[in-house]
Amino acid sequence: MTTFSLTLREDHEAALRDHLLRGNGLEHAAYVLCGRAGIRRDPWDREAHEKFLSMQVIPVSDDQVLDAGPGLITWSTTSFVRALRAAAADDQVVAVVHNHPAGMTAFSAQDDTNEPDLVQLAVNRNGGGTKMLSLILTADGQWAGRVWLLPRAGAHAPLRMIRVPGARLAVHYPGRGLAAGLPAFQRQALAFGSALNDDLSRLRVGVVGCGGTGSAVAMLLARLGVGQVALFDNDVVDRTNLNRLHGAHQQDADLMRPKVHVVAEAIAAMGLGVRVVPTEAWIGDPECRDALRACDIVFGCTDDHDGRLFLNRLAYYYLIPVIDMGLAIDAGDGDPPALRGLDGRVTVLGPHETCLMCRGVVSGAAARGEAMKRAEPELYERRKAEAYVAGGGNPAPAVVTFTTELACMAVNEMIQRLQGFRGSDGSVAHRVRKFHLGEDRRPRHDPRPACPVCAADESWGRGDTDPFLGRVA
Ligand SMILES: [Zn+2]
Ligand SMILES: [Zn+2]
Repeated sequence: MTTFSLTLREDHEAALRDHLLRGNGLEHAAYVLCGRAGIRRDPWDREAHEKFLSMQVIPVSDDQVLDAGPGLITWSTTSFVRALRAAAADDQVVAVVHNHPAGMTAFSAQDDTNEPDLVQLAVNRNGGGTKMLSLILTADGQWAGRVWLLPRAGAHAPLRMIRVPGARLAVHYPGRGLAAGLPAFQRQALAFGSALNDDLSRLRVGVVGCGGTGSAVAMLLARLGVGQVALFDNDVVDRTNLNRLHGAHQQDADLMRPKVHVVAEAIAAMGLGVRVVPTEAWIGDPECRDALRACDIVFGCTDDHDGRLFLNRLAYYYLIPVIDMGLAIDAGDGDPPALRGLDGRVTVLGPHETCLMCRGVVSGAAARGEAMKRAEPELYERRKAEAYVAGGGNPAPAVVTFTTELACMAVNEMIQRLQGFRGSDGSVAHRVRKFHLGEDRRPRHDPRPACPVCAADESWGRGDTDPFLGRVA
């Protein structure tokens, strides 16, 4: 059985609120054109899952409305046919949206009667198998939705979750805040409320890279009560990273065990009910795609440039907030070295935020070198000897207290976005903690005008494309 969910960009949600919630007690309507992600198998519930991703909002203007009241709305279908035509051209799905001024989060008998006619119109226009989404927004800002699979009464399935990512990350699902939760998280609820615990228990969160920062992020997510965690890394534990890897033991290094399995076992041993899915592969490997696309949030804890560029695109194509982090220790030669910088960076990626390329965080040349090293190791070694590609020199300096503090910074940014403890302006898209100066900075970077990722919205919410993420290997 396929399950369904929707991600609605924060600016799209704001446009819908403005159009639908006018405080006049009447119903209004709009359409949303959606891209999609077809997940063959969600690794946690082991079912197929389809994610719809908002790309464009089209309001139904008042002159098209034939009849509107507090409990009903009918409008000319001309605009619906226009929306269907636009959707067919871009392989999108149309969502029909209306508000319930009385606050009812359930679909009404009127909705049940009217919607099959619209689905029939969609199937007639765009072909058999065409799906239609239907969303309702209540006066107090709650969302509910369903997806029509066939043009006949009752042929619909609920949306499992509606996410609204932006400066904040709101999540809507039936019965939110009603789950009792584990006693282990009660003191957390005293600080932040029970709804946060409920949200965390439902979220699917990915951790890309399970080294010093990634292992710390994964442990913190588990101890916060995140219900579903996916781990991605293709590296094994060795003696040189034992001191920074949370959850690792000497025998893991001796047995050269994959980091993802070591971290997954450490989480399972906590007994907090977290379901962990480890994938031992480089993040660009097609093997990772189902788990990655199923995630609601992804933490980027890798230090490879190509992996970062991959996540950089993922955030915009799939509307999945990526919280990327990096530690940069600039130590000179000598012992002790003359420390010139000790910076921890946390960057949140997604529509309307500047991407990692435009912030100068990743190097395209280094990424190309890494891609060559993976695909053609011999050619890479030759080019490195000829000094045509940048090669890894000495290992980068790292200190466990700073990799771990960086993990805390990143996970606290997630809590802020879900719960808002820093207030409405408290989310920070790009924070650099100058550990050696004892201060935080928030450098601003604008998108480069030609950036294909963050300067224009064509790929935002596009979802599945060929090639994947528009990346040409
Ligand atoms: Zn209704
Ligand atoms: Zn950019």
